[in-house]
Amino acid sequence: RAKADLAHHVCYYDQSMDDVVRARRCLVNDLRAAIDNNQLAVHYQVQTSVSTTQIRGFEALLRWNHPEHGFIPPSQFIPLAEENGLIVQLGEWVLRQACADAASWTPPYKVAVNLSPAQFAHADLHKLIIEVLMSTGLAANRLELELTESTIFQDKERSFSVLRQIKALGVNIALDDFGTGYSSLEMLRSFPFDKIKLDRSFINEAEDSLQAKSIIRAVLTLGKSLEIPILAEGIETEGQLSLLGEEGCDEAQGFLLGRPIPIGMLVESGRISLNAEAASGQGPRVKTSIRS
Ligand code: C2E
Ligand code: MG
Ligand code: MG
Ligand code: MG
Repeated sequence: RAKADLAHHVCYYDQSMDDVVRARRCLVNDLRAAIDNNQLAVHYQVQTSVSTTQIRGFEALLRWNHPEHGFIPPSQFIPLAEENGLIVQLGEWVLRQACADAASWTPPYKVAVNLSPAQFAHADLHKLIIEVLMSTGLAANRLELELTESTIFQDKERSFSVLRQIKALGVNIALDDFGTGYSSLEMLRSFPFDKIKLDRSFINEAEDSLQAKSIIRAVLTLGKSLEIPILAEGIETEGQLSLLGEEGCDEAQGFLLGRPIPIGMLVESGRISLNAEAASGQGPRVKTSIRS
């Protein structure tokens, strides 16, 4: 609480204040206090099978409800947090929250958590993942980490060795926003990803653009031959879903199937229920077998 008050004294918002740097600094201070002040939440967006639309899991997406500015989208505060290293703390909070939530829901669907470049570069990542899995009791194979090509591309040798270490725990690795980064094909050859998420931009144009359709086809063929499931991001229409189905896409995510929503609404929608053990307040179990 003291922290928040401090933040508000130092950091007042003025309509006439056109100093972008100062505004950004204010936002950073607020973001720093946001964790302690319960302004952050994780929302979950469903991921389904394309052919059966059965639920496969949920992607955890961070939300910030700012006391004055209201809802601030991740596209605005994640890059900011990335620049000044705050993302490491935020990311740890998201990972912990998402794993705790997933450990409490049934059926045992997976949870996918985004990792930013700074988080991935952090030396303690491997240790953190082990600690969070142990303390939340989530089985390692129910966690999936989403990384983009550019995150991995920064230092490929190190990236692949860290990814191998994490994968050895049983945690799944997904390649996010595929098709928008660098060196895609080489990256696919070098690492056994558990999933490739084809970027929304291709799905957007799938029905109107022959090129987009050709790229989708090529990526699906690639996925088949490498035996890596492909998830299509940003499915908004029935037309897109059936097109992806015809082309043999494995999984889908998008507003058509469900928007990101709080865990409470997921329960209300009947898509998950909270298991009795978690609900009865006994707390999460500690599993010691995550290394096996
Ligand atoms: P992403 O990981 O590619 O997440 C998917 C984004 O697409 C989400 O935006 C989601 O709401 C949006 N989306 C899903 N389906 C549709 C659709 O059918 N149409 C449209 N127009 N959009 C759709 P969101 O939640 O605003 O997040 C944006 C980005 O911010 C994410 O892209 C991810 O890169 C980053 N992000 C979000 N949460 C976290 C987090 O906890 N940690 C880190 N490091 N990054 C995060
Ligand atoms: Mg993602
Ligand atoms: Mg994505
Ligand atoms: Mg994205």
